[in-house]
Amino acid sequence: MLKARQCVREMRVYHSPLCGPEIDLRLDLNESTTGCSPRVLAKIRSLDAKLLALYPDRESGEKLLSDFLGVKAEELLLTNGADEGIDLLCRAYLDSEDELIIIVPAFAMYEVFAQSTGARIVRVSTAADLSFSVEKVLQAITPRTRMIVITNPNNPTGLAVDRADILRVLQAAPSAAVLLDEAYFDFYGQTMMDQIGKIPNLFIARTFSKAYGLAGMRLGALVGAVEQMSVVRRIIAPFNVNAFAIECLKEALDDRQFVANYVEQVRSTRESLGQQLDAMGLKYWPSFTNFLLVNFRELRQSVLDTMTARGIALRDRPDCPGCIRISIGTPPEIERMVSVLKEIMVEKPVVQQVAK
Ligand code: PMP
Repeated sequence: MLKARQCVREMRVYHSPLCGPEIDLRLDLNESTTGCSPRVLAKIRSLDAKLLALYPDRESGEKLLSDFLGVKAEELLLTNGADEGIDLLCRAYLDSEDELIIIVPAFAMYEVFAQSTGARIVRVSTAADLSFSVEKVLQAITPRTRMIVITNPNNPTGLAVDRADILRVLQAAPSAAVLLDEAYFDFYGQTMMDQIGKIPNLFIARTFSKAYGLAGMRLGALVGAVEQMSVVRRIIAPFNVNAFAIECLKEALDDRQFVANYVEQVRSTRESLGQQLDAMGLKYWPSFTNFLLVNFRELRQSVLDTMTARGIALRDRPDCPGCIRISIGTPPEIERMVSVLKEIMVEKPVVQQVAK
């Protein structure tokens, strides 16, 4: 057997929770179960054989998206999902002696990409109510801190981080690349994109996997100051984003109504799910995303098992004791999930006594 680098040997394989054929309702990966814009689908159907024979032209897509976001084309890289943007930053800025700060509970891929560089991962916990604690993050910054990741709104909690707190972190660590992961921006509406080019250590990651319903397309963006992005650009593969994604980008961006409708559907379904959870006496966190984190306490395992048996995948979050993350599907899908939940609650009413 070949000997991989030590930091890779120490890593465990990250298994994506894609599930078996018994599952027909996926509420575990924060995908849109509504699908993508019909305009994007029509565009894919119109593509010809010749186009697919050519390497994709990323620059044309970068021009389109940078105009849309109000940044310069040189400040933006189209990436193979937001995942690739995170990986690029880790590879560009982390050496084995360096430190990366993440705020846990966190999206799993930060650790995976950081570990592969051999950097030291500094896990800063949230406050007891799972909200962002700027003081704890500031305390964790050392001269070795080369990267800090803030997810806003956060996954898996759904909670937002104050702009003032993000600014404090950016100022406190001028030698660190601060990645603001705005994967769920469209559901939240607030961004720091206006600070790109003004704050040199700020990077923002975006994705088309959530509100645009294009997780299968693998399209995202990494945005940052020109001086930094010109360095990051050195390590990216020239054809990292596929031709479908680049060809469909304009349609995806132009169909504003599609995204607005989906975001509104998520908001109202999330609210009504929240009311039903309230009625069952279950605690959840106020979310600015297309998912809710729910505390089932001692019922966690039986909820997961019963849902799986009924063909519904939810996301276990062992990093938040007792909690499960539930993606906001369409109203009928959430109704189906809630009806199974009600059966469980009737069988095991003990949780109904849990204080909110
Ligand atoms: N960041 C966060 C916070 C996410 O939740 C996800 C996907 N679940 C990603 C990044 C990765 O998104 P993409 O599909 O664009 O790689």
